[in-house]
Amino acid sequence: MGQLSENDQSGASPSCAAVFYKVKSRSAHMKSHAEQEKKAAALRLKEKEAAAAAAHQQALQEESGAGAGDKG
Ligand SMILES: [Zn+2]
Repeated sequence: MGQLSENDQSGASPSCAAVFYKVKSRSAHMKSHAEQEKKAAALRLKEKEAAAAAAHQQALQEESGAGAGDKG
C-alpha cells in the first residue's frame, strides 16, 4: 500500500472503480471511504466481542451443567 504517483493523476478512487475529473470531488469521495472503513472496523470489533461473549457463555454452561460427571 504505497502507490503515490500514477493513481493520483487519473482521478480514480483506489478503493473502488469510481473515476473523478475534479480533485475536489475525488477527495470528498475518499473521505466517505474513510468514514465507511471506520464504521466497518467498529462493526467488526463489536461482532468479535459478541462472538467472544457467546463462546464464553457456552463454556460456562458446559462447565457448570453437562459434562460434570465426565470428569475424572
Ligand atoms: Zn471509491
